[in-house]
Amino acid sequence: MQDLSDLKPRMLIHCENNDTIEKFSAHHHFHSPADHCLRRPEIAENIAVERVLELAVKHSYPVHIVHVSSATSALLIREAKAACDLITCETAPHYLIHTEDILKAKHGHRYLCSPPYRSAQTRGMMVELLQDGYFDIIASDHCPFTIADKDRYADTPEQVPCGIPGVGTLFKAMHDHFVTSGKITLDELFALTVHNPAKLMNFSPKPLFTIEQMLG
Ligand SMILES: [Zn+2]
Repeated sequence: MQDLSDLKPRMLIHCENNDTIEKFSAHHHFHSPADHCLRRPEIAENIAVERVLELAVKHSYPVHIVHVSSATSALLIREAKAACDLITCETAPHYLIHTEDILKAKHGHRYLCSPPYRSAQTRGMMVELLQDGYFDIIASDHCPFTIADKDRYADTPEQVPCGIPGVGTLFKAMHDHFVTSGKITLDELFALTVHNPAKLMNFSPKPLFTIEQMLG
């Protein structure tokens, strides 16, 4: 941040503290896909988010925290925004729709991604925070591995390529889960997926797509 202080390009940061992950991974071996959640707990994300926020506030630096999966982290980010309005964040549809249970189901290895899915309680809080406007955008950390890529290592979860696709399904998944149920409005979804990302990227404030095209 000091080196880039003249230009201040926005940093996109994946926040998970490595020391914490190593500590928890030493206690939880990777026998099944659900162990991923024990090896990379929410606390790893919260510690990293706290450090990044501290630096962003100290240097008044534009930071965008990607794929927030922890409600505690979202609360920390909201607090830091009051001190530095250059801080923004996103979450991804899978943290709002699924829980760690998906890793315990059949073909759980196909859903491995980092940060991992969280508890039902966290997912519920994340949806409430979504409704309360805690996330600037909804985005997808798009990792288009095929089912064959994932299945190749089905018996050794540690080797399964980590990440899931999302660009093609993001808008429809969010629409079907949260607009249809009345949790957020279509205008809010449009802001989260089109207007706000365009603003953050310094694109035209004009929408790039119509609602009809997004639902297409
Ligand atoms: Zn990431």
